[in-house]
Amino acid sequence: MATLSNPAVIARETLKQLMSRRMAPSPENYRAIYNEIAGTTDKATALFPERELKALLLSLPRETPVQQRLSRQLEQSLKGQNWEEFQKTLVDFIKAHSTERELNWGDLIAEFLRQWETKQSNLTPARKRESLEHILASATKNSEILFARLQGLIKSWSLNSAEPEAIVLGEDTIDAVTETPPPAPVNLPAALTSGAASRASELLPELRSLFAYTLEVVVATQIGDEPELAAQAHTLAAAVRSASTLKAMDELLADTKRFAFRLEFLTEDRNELRSGLLKLLQLMIDNVSELVVDDHWLNGQIDMVREIVARPMNLRAINDAEHRLKEVIFKQGQLKNSLIEAKEALKQMLAGFVDHLAEFADSTSDYHDKIENCAEKISKAEDITQLEDVLAEVISETRIIQINAQRSRDDLRATKQRVEEADKRINELEEDLDKASLLVRHDQLTGALNRRGLEETFDNEVARAQRRKSPLCVAMLDIDNFKKLNDSFGHEAGDAALIHLVTVIRETLRPQDTLARFGGEEFIIILPDTPQQDAQKAIVRLQRELTKRLFLHDNEKVLITFSAGITEYRLDDSQTSVTKRADEAMYAAKKAGKNRVVAA
Ligand code: GH3
Ligand code: MG
Ligand code: MG
Repeated sequence: MATLSNPAVIARETLKQLMSRRMAPSPENYRAIYNEIAGTTDKATALFPERELKALLLSLPRETPVQQRLSRQLEQSLKGQNWEEFQKTLVDFIKAHSTERELNWGDLIAEFLRQWETKQSNLTPARKRESLEHILASATKNSEILFARLQGLIKSWSLNSAEPEAIVLGEDTIDAVTETPPPAPVNLPAALTSGAASRASELLPELRSLFAYTLEVVVATQIGDEPELAAQAHTLAAAVRSASTLKAMDELLADTKRFAFRLEFLTEDRNELRSGLLKLLQLMIDNVSELVVDDHWLNGQIDMVREIVARPMNLRAINDAEHRLKEVIFKQGQLKNSLIEAKEALKQMLAGFVDHLAEFADSTSDYHDKIENCAEKISKAEDITQLEDVLAEVISETRIIQINAQRSRDDLRATKQRVEEADKRINELEEDLDKASLLVRHDQLTGALNRRGLEETFDNEVARAQRRKSPLCVAMLDIDNFKKLNDSFGHEAGDAALIHLVTVIRETLRPQDTLARFGGEEFIIILPDTPQQDAQKAIVRLQRELTKRLFLHDNEKVLITFSAGITEYRLDDSQTSVTKRADEAMYAAKKAGKNRVVAA
């Protein structure tokens, strides 16, 4: 790689490389690639993290002389950019501080009394007592833990002079306190009382096990085809369950971050793959449909797949399409066999016809030869008796050819008739084939499900609702004054109005809602995962949508309205009983003046 010199350019290139190599954007990775592009060594660019360390220094407490001394020493090493010294100062301080802490109960109690008597905002003596009791109840057996927790409590009180109470969370799970500093206080909103805080700390183990469960069951099963990553999810889950020291928690945090990064990349990859596959499918569909303009029966199937691909991926639609395709393929398989047989018969008849023609041509040319021969004999004849013989021959040959011609004509007529019949049968079969791709479960005019399709879908939806214990609603729609529309504008306009209604319903309701044509101008809508109130809202929304999207007949705007009845599926319902209830509610809507939605 050619080396660059402009840092901004190098930085941009570094980011690009990180992305294209799918590396986690960690500081180490960034630095490694930066060096690679800039052609520098790590030492040359290994920067002293001055800014971060300064921020750290600023956040250190400077209340006691010991703390102040520490800050001064650290400042010194920071100025000299001396990392070793900085590190040593910090380690020494922590070591000294830990021994001091273990021993110094006297100072702790003195500080405790001081904070107990100091007034803090948001902290009543009762709340202080409650926190203390909580700590005493949870850590009485281990003096080190007790020390650490009391220290944490005192610190949270001391920080509380102007801020909301700081609460120590998660003590119950941290027991190797000897190696670790006291748990860091966590600030919670002022609205939380210490009762709420202790409830919050009770929830932590639950959260922890939920997190482990999410990793183990939800995440790991999703990425089963990436064994290494799935194994990592299991390891992490185990760590989530067992991490009990701050060190272990820190490690867990870092591991989780790394894991999340990898998961993010994997998800991106998968999304890309999915949309790539979809594009490919789209391309194939477009091409196939161009190739098979004449095969309408295939176009029916292609349209269906196209429709599925065009909408957001939906398992229900895919299942539905699979069902439909299977049926269509079965029916078409049968039809195709008959079609092939019919075409074969036609071919044979045509071949027979050609044979006949050839035979006929043969016999006519034979006749020509013979007649020519006779003509010659006639020209050479010297007396009438010779002519008589030749004439008898001519008459006999002519009769033979005449009989032949007649037989051929009869044969040809019969063949012609059989060919016509076969052709007709082929046309019929092809028409059936066209229809088969659409008709199996769908209404031919509107494309909504037909009764048969409705029955199947209803059963599936009921089973699904029962499995998920989720509500299911059924709506019955009937167009208002449809007869009048037919009478005024004609039957074709009526048909177009039905198609318009179906289009608006499809585009207004959710993809998982099922629409079926129940009869002439009556439709049924199945709304899964929907309680009655929401179903009513959805159908009212549909009504409004229809008033916005008027039906156009010869450029004239026609308002189509409907009356609807809605009911929620009950456990003891059959398809008939639930439909009957929806129908009765719809009838009530008609009686109440039409163009309204009534719930059963
Ligand atoms: P109401 O408001 O009470 O429902 O009155 P309506 O006129 O809508 O109901 P009615 O049952 O009296 O008439 C329904 C009409 O729908 C009669 C029938 O000719 C017409 N119809 C049924 N199926 C079709 C169809 O596929 N196409 C067309 N154009 N009309 C249809
Ligand atoms: Mg009706
Ligand atoms: Mg009607």
